[in-house]
Formats: sequence, structure tokens, C-alpha cells
Amino acid sequence: MSRRRPGARIVTALPILVAAIAAAAMAVFSGAQDTRTAGVAKLSLDEARRTMQWDEPAEPVKIAGPLHFVGTRGLAAWLIATAEGHILLNTTMPSGGPAIEASIRKLGFRPEEIRILLTGHAHIDHAGGHAYIQKLSGATVAMMTEEVDLIESGGRSDFHYGAEPEFSYQPVTVDRVLGDGETIVLGGVTLTAYRTAGHTRGATTFALKITEADRDYNVVFPGGTNINPGYRLVKDASYPGIADDYRRTVEYLEMMTPDIWLDMHLDPEDFDARRARAAKEGAAAWVNTEEYREWIAAVRGKLDAALAAQSDAAWLKDLATRYTAAWCSRNAANVAKFFDEKGSLTINYGTPAVGRTQIAAAAQSFMTAFPDIVVTMDGVEFDGGRGIYRWTFTGTNTGPGGTGRAVRISGQEEWSFGPGGLIYASQGRFDEDEYKRQLAGVSGGS
Ligand SMILES: [Zn+2]
Repeated sequence: MSRRRPGARIVTALPILVAAIAAAAMAVFSGAQDTRTAGVAKLSLDEARRTMQWDEPAEPVKIAGPLHFVGTRGLAAWLIATAEGHILLNTTMPSGGPAIEASIRKLGFRPEEIRILLTGHAHIDHAGGHAYIQKLSGATVAMMTEEVDLIESGGRSDFHYGAEPEFSYQPVTVDRVLGDGETIVLGGVTLTAYRTAGHTRGATTFALKITEADRDYNVVFPGGTNINPGYRLVKDASYPGIADDYRRTVEYLEMMTPDIWLDMHLDPEDFDARRARAAKEGAAAWVNTEEYREWIAAVRGKLDAALAAQSDAAWLKDLATRYTAAWCSRNAANVAKFFDEKGSLTINYGTPAVGRTQIAAAAQSFMTAFPDIVVTMDGVEFDGGRGIYRWTFTGTNTGPGGTGRAVRISGQEEWSFGPGGLIYASQGRFDEDEYKRQLAGVSGGS
């Protein structure tokens, strides 16, 4: 199905909340990320509902094995029906609760028998109907650790949309907290939950193996990957570690090899075409391996474009210059101030120093050992949204118990950023063997 018309493809590949009006959708797709006014978001939610047919009812249909579609024209909801009760993945908009209930009954199942309620991420267009379905069924609400706050606040704790009233929905209480890679087992069906964050802090991809007519199908439900307008990944990041989350998510999804890929947002035309084919061909009609590869390649392209577009070289150089001066001030607290409150500094893959107190202690240990420490900046540049800061440090080891020898060693730090332009994670590296040789007087350095 690589012959979808371009417009339809954009809608399919846009697992997002807002950017549904054509202009905004194109902006997202072309990597122009900076449409950050609330006004756009407000306009788009209404537009999205209409143009993407989020609230329009759709006929339910069996996909394969225990898996059934029970969503709307534009939004996916999946029922996994077993003899021991059912799993429901995604509940669409708040209006979707009664629609999903009706679809489940139409398929001949009882919505009261839903035992586990899941969503790929807790935005209003995928968890809006949770409260209705939970009340109806008494189902266990299971969520990834990092997504618990979002669904329990009904979207109000969202890092980007939290202050927008129309993005909030009736909250539910989480009964079961999921860790990355945890499995959900019911009636002989096993779903695996993977944290694939970035779009939200705890967006979750579910994987499921099902059998239909003696054939096994690996089914993957990605949990939302879009970089919405206004999301900030590099300097002044929308949340600490967002770029690292997106990178890890894309790498993870690139490794997956689904037979059937099912997105949270639907392209109604493509879905109808497959539905018609499935009536004749059965489950094989839903196989879309090739489309998955195209989709994840496009997701990778959008992430790389967003990281490049948001990498401000002048800003990074200024940060690195000031950071260098902080080291030369020989005041460890000055160094720690460059880090997010929950930031970390890891040196040569050792135990990370986490938080400003520990980071200051790590910096102090060098400053104490080398009272005349001088750090120079050898260079700084962006690489895929990360800052690569290269340095040389010179000093004489005249601190307590020191060898008295002069050391000159070069290395680098690799930075990711948090809100306010602070460093969220720094991976520091230098040649520790050479450092020890110089301290022992074996080598004279460079
Ligand atoms: Zn979303």
C-alpha cells in the first residue's frame, strides 16, 4: 500500500493531538516545529476532530485472532477479547466511551467484561473515554510509570497542553503501574508494554502475538511518536531528557518488525480499503510490514530534522564558554549551576553524580586534587541535538595525598538538555589510563 495519496498518508502518519488542520499538519511534516502559540493549539483541536473524523462512528471489525477494531473513523480503539475477559487499548475522545461500548456489543461481546484498560498515551484523543469505560466495566487501569500523573490529572499535568482546558478529560485512577517491558497476561493473550516516550513522558508501545488460521502475526501498536508544534527538544527542552526519549523511542521502533502495524490515528480511506479486502482475504489483508518501514523511516526523518532545526550553535557556544569559565573559577558550585536540578554527570561510564550536590562534589574532587586547575575549551558542536563539548584540563596534583605531578589531559562531555537551557545529562569521557600514567610520572602527556 505504498500508493496512498499523499494527503491520506500525512493523516495516517500523524499520531498526534493537534496538528490536524492541513497547514499545521504540513508544518509538522516538513519539520517546521515552532508554531508554539496556544491559539494554534486551540483552533486545531476543533479542526482535528472534524477533519480527522475523530468523533464519527465506524463499524467494528475483527482484525485477527482475538483482536478487533472498535474505534471511530479517525481514532483507533482495539478490543482483545478472551474467554477470561477483555483488554481494551485506547478509548478515543470522551464522546468515544458510548461509541466503543456500542461497537463491542455489536461484535457480540460484553463491555462489562473488559478487565484491563490501556492507552498508548494519555492525551484526550486516546484516553478521553477511559472514565466511561472504567465505570461501566470496573476494569483495571494499567499505565506506564511515567504516564500515571498524566491520566490521573485528566491531562492537566501535560508538559505542553496542561494549561489548555479543552485538552483535559475526566481522570481515572491507575490500579496497576507498568514498567518498561512488563507483560499483561489475560486469557492466553500476552501483551508487552514498552516505554516509547517523547510525545508524552510515558507513551507506551504495545506488542502482541496472535494466531489466526495457523499463522502467527506480530502486532505492534506504537504509542505516539509525533513531535507536536511547539515541542522543544534541545535548548529549553519541554521536559528534561525529551530528546533522549525521542531518540531511544525511534531506535526502539526501528528494531521492531511487525506483521501488522496499528497506529493510534487512522487513515479512514486506507482502513476502509483493508476492511473490504479482509472480508475476502481474512487477516492477511491487515499485514502492512512495508508501510511500517516507510512510516518509521519518516518518523526518523522528522526527529532528525527537528533536532537539527532546534540546534542553536551560537547558544551552545555561549553555554560552553561560560561552563569552561565556571571550571576555571575553581568553585564547584558554579559548575553545578549549569545542571538541571535532577541532572546527572557521568564520567567514563562510572556511577553518575545525580543532582547539583553530587555534581558539585564531583567537580570539587578535581579542584581539590589540582588546586591550579585550568580548563580550556577545544571545541563545541551539535551532533543530533546533543552538545559535544571538548576540553583540555591542566593542573598540578598538589592536593591532599597528591603526587605533585603536572597533568594535561583532553576529553569531552556529551550533553542533553532540560528546561531553561540547563544540562540534563552529561556523559564525560577521557583516557583514564593516560591520566594515571601522567600522575605516576610515566608519561609526559602531549
Ligand atoms: Zn497525543
